[in-house]
Amino acid sequence: MKVLVAVKRVIDYNVKVRVKADNSDVDLANVKMALNPFCEIAIEEAVRLKEAGTASEVVVVSIGSKSCEEQIRTALALGVDRGIRIDTEEGPDSLSVAKLLAKVVEKEAPGMVILGKQAIDSDNNQTGQMLAALLDRPQGTFASEVKVEGDNVQVTREVDGGLQTVELAMPAIVTTDLRLNEPRYASLPNIMKAKRKPLEVISPDDLGVTVSSNISLLRVEPPAERQSGIRVGSVDELVEKLRNEAKVI
Ligand code: AMP
Repeated sequence: MKVLVAVKRVIDYNVKVRVKADNSDVDLANVKMALNPFCEIAIEEAVRLKEAGTASEVVVVSIGSKSCEEQIRTALALGVDRGIRIDTEEGPDSLSVAKLLAKVVEKEAPGMVILGKQAIDSDNNQTGQMLAALLDRPQGTFASEVKVEGDNVQVTREVDGGLQTVELAMPAIVTTDLRLNEPRYASLPNIMKAKRKPLEVISPDDLGVTVSSNISLLRVEPPAERQSGIRVGSVDELVEKLRNEAKVI
């Protein structure tokens, strides 16, 4: 079985996000970029399936400009066999990403597609669901455990107040939650080996998809600055401030 993993290049989660002076977007100039953390979890799960002998090949796909190849190479260093970049300049919206991924799925015929549950830049949490709908295939979202049993996959899902286990006929779409696994670090020899692994670049035209967006970004604002805390002298003072200043009791 082949496993296809979709990965997105996003701002590194350790970086404090800056907004452009005209509030038109997030400022990406000279900002450290990285693999979306939920996509790292997706890669780890696919590589573990290969190590267990369940998957025969792991292919990673990323949609974006040439800079995404840095994240594809990282995935290759983590154990992925081959990479595909679909070349787009502007960041496409989720539906365009799902349409492009659907075409790659038709071409590659994987038994499982693993995506992150959300990209931490746009927080959309919709690409996996859209892909499953476009392909008319079952989906197991927010996975905290993935078990392949013959032609089916059992996905334990993190739902409100507990866990739910569903069984999906493969090919299936799985999206990863935080507790699915702990991703490994790439070793130096594997980083070197990754440079020689195949990375194919294709265009949306090659897949017969027109990238468009129905969404316009109107404005981005940073969160309000937090006030610094104060030290109170007594319990009475604390109660007085909670009652009269914060008005929470
Ligand atoms: P989202 O629905 O935008 O929150 O993204 C959920 C998941 O969809 C991500 O974790 C990726 O697995 C996949 N995805 C989103 N955008 C891209 C992209 N540009 N290239 C490849 N995969 C993507």
